[in-house]
Amino acid sequence: MPDLPIRTALCGVVAVVGVLGVSASCTPAKRELTAAPPAHLKLADVSSLAIDAPGGRIQLHDGHAELGDGGASKDRYSLSGVFAEGDINGDGRADAAIVLVDNSAGSGVFFSLVPVVNSANGLQAQKPFDLGDRIVVQRMGIERGTIHLTTLDRSSNAAYFEVDRQHVMSLAYQGGRISETADRITPLAGVPLPPSDAAVQRVKFDQGASSATVSGNISYGQRQGYEVDAAAGQLVHAELLGPLGLFLTVQDHAGRPLTQPTDRTTALDVPLRTSGSLRLVVVSLNGDHTAYSLHISIDSKSGSPSSTPTGSVAPPTSPTPAAGSKVLYLTFDDGPSTPYTQQVLKVLAKFHAHATFFDLGQQAQRYPDLLAAELAGGNTIGNHTWDHRSLAGMSRAQFNDEVMRTKTVLGAKASSCLRPPYGAHDGFTADYAAALGYRLQYWDIDTRDWARPGVNSIVTTVLTGARNGSVVLMHDGGGDRTQSVAALETILSTLSSRGWQFPALC
Ligand SMILES: [Zn+2]
Repeated sequence: MPDLPIRTALCGVVAVVGVLGVSASCTPAKRELTAAPPAHLKLADVSSLAIDAPGGRIQLHDGHAELGDGGASKDRYSLSGVFAEGDINGDGRADAAIVLVDNSAGSGVFFSLVPVVNSANGLQAQKPFDLGDRIVVQRMGIERGTIHLTTLDRSSNAAYFEVDRQHVMSLAYQGGRISETADRITPLAGVPLPPSDAAVQRVKFDQGASSATVSGNISYGQRQGYEVDAAAGQLVHAELLGPLGLFLTVQDHAGRPLTQPTDRTTALDVPLRTSGSLRLVVVSLNGDHTAYSLHISIDSKSGSPSSTPTGSVAPPTSPTPAAGSKVLYLTFDDGPSTPYTQQVLKVLAKFHAHATFFDLGQQAQRYPDLLAAELAGGNTIGNHTWDHRSLAGMSRAQFNDEVMRTKTVLGAKASSCLRPPYGAHDGFTADYAAALGYRLQYWDIDTRDWARPGVNSIVTTVLTGARNGSVVLMHDGGGDRTQSVAALETILSTLSSRGWQFPALC
């Protein structure tokens, strides 16, 4: 409530009326006389706030904070660079809105919007508003007490990697809380591509090679074109490795689009009808200065002219269950740990189900017997790094150390699947993994069991999300997993009776 001007005005009225005899109490306080809105706020002004989040109080230092529960994993919080300034609560002072990113110890990356109210007592962060996971914040602004936010995110049935819609939200602040007052969802195919172009780069293939990898950095609204020469009858395959919000389009030598300009794809095959140069264009709708790599290969139908690029082992491909079958892939992360790994194994055996355990190297070293028990039950073991550090932004040497130390401890029977902690990756993660013979394995159904949301919540997430071939993320390590074990029992008994099968994923 804008109490300052109103109270002053009332005092004026009361003073004039006089007869009420209260004019003495109407002398405006000194604070009110001098209370001009402060200078504009910047991101730096809010980078050391304390925020009361559902998981506990987060004290930011220079935009970062870590919360651990004693285990190997930590929740890591950081402020995104997205910042808006304006009056949220109508008191005439400049407030702010910021976006807090939670690299969760259990799974994935989660975003929330935090209103920051500027009062006589200073800046105070208010209750965060959950924005969901795996989003790209395109823009944010404050106008007449409403926070306007545009994100790229995914509908609930989209696959893990897909960004399939643009979400424009209007958020109102009242009584310390944010609530959504309006929203508009546009399928991403309907969102116009950004206009700016950078100079096209020519891709050179090494002598005798039929593939090449280029990499770069790109910011929101930019496009970067790459040109390759190919002959009629050849098939050009391109794959873009990068975070959400990056896409690939393709044009012929005359600049005519060969894909729908509204397609948002990161991998494509283009059969060439005429010889000439082909232009592959990386488009960024990601808000950040973003690293990517683009792998291009050309298949000649009349015999391959080349050998495979050096040093790479072809990683295994993801299994595809037969159409119409009911196959669910269960995966357990962050173990082995006691007593939960044994409990999970017991429940799996009871229902003749199998799972893939994405184990941490340092846990596996501690519990070799549990590792053996996982395999003895007919389950498989994947690599989840040594100590659950994010692979995004990691140097190649660090990456190799995290993965190979773990590989040694997991032993020869472990699979070639690598699950990045938090699902976090950058434009190099898949390439680094492939060079070590690993394929990255994510998930479709995130139970968020690490947050202990209640057995029912975990069960419902799986039962309502299950599609043929879905990969379910659960945890047997990293904390108290009693709820996960109880939920597993209900999930397996329910879905078994409906004819579902549970083979190990990889
Ligand atoms: Zn994990």
